[in-house]
Amino acid sequence: MRTPVIGGNWKMYKNPAETTSFFESFRPLVEYSGHCEIVICPSFLDLETAVTATRGTRIQIGAQNLYWAKEGAFTGEVSGPMIRASGCSHVIVGHSERRRYFGETNEGVLKKTVAALDVGLIPIVCVGECEKENAESVLMEQFRYAIGALSDGQFARIVIAYEPVWAIGAGETATPETAADTHRFIRTLVKDRFGAEAANNIRILYGGSIKPENAKSLIAQPEIDGFLVGGASLDPVSFASIVNLEL
Ligand code: PEP
Repeated sequence: MRTPVIGGNWKMYKNPAETTSFFESFRPLVEYSGHCEIVICPSFLDLETAVTATRGTRIQIGAQNLYWAKEGAFTGEVSGPMIRASGCSHVIVGHSERRRYFGETNEGVLKKTVAALDVGLIPIVCVGECEKENAESVLMEQFRYAIGALSDGQFARIVIAYEPVWAIGAGETATPETAADTHRFIRTLVKDRFGAEAANNIRILYGGSIKPENAKSLIAQPEIDGFLVGGASLDPVSFASIVNLEL
């Protein structure tokens, strides 16, 4: 049995005051959602506020990115040890917006994943194709270079998010059947590289325009182990209704 993960990626939205107010509304709404792990990833600026606002609850906080060096002259970057020290448990790595706008490569994603694991953060490693037509070849390449070089022990501690880029922020989602097929394909890649047990244990989240209205049919697919939610995670009521779908 894989415990579902419902993640929220706030992207570059919300300031600390808005973060506090979000959690005031959100906390009571998810008080009984012990069936899944809840991870919210605000901007770096909001991490401390979010950690404080969720202390003593089951809500976990993650960053949206990290740099692979521990410290040094890297102006504007934030390291894994800094994120860990601020009370985070997770970090998103290789989000398609990082790949598209900030030139992140599979090699960089691998380095960041290892850096996160080194300090005890759980990396949510994102993969996904830009065009529907070449999903399998893109996923194979991303898997091979960004994930395949991890050791078995490292791989056992990551979460994968499959996010077709054409679906992110676009209002279009993969059908439950297509998403499940792609998750199955990723699980096959995992099986070939890390073995059957790893393939059975890995949580593969789906992301791309998830809303309360479309989430139910996707989470009904046994291959889908949760979501990474962008836009709909900004509203406490919408996000809580996605979290609470299985209650
Ligand atoms: C995301 O940012 O990971 C995402 C899936 O965004 P959205 O839900 O807005 O498509």
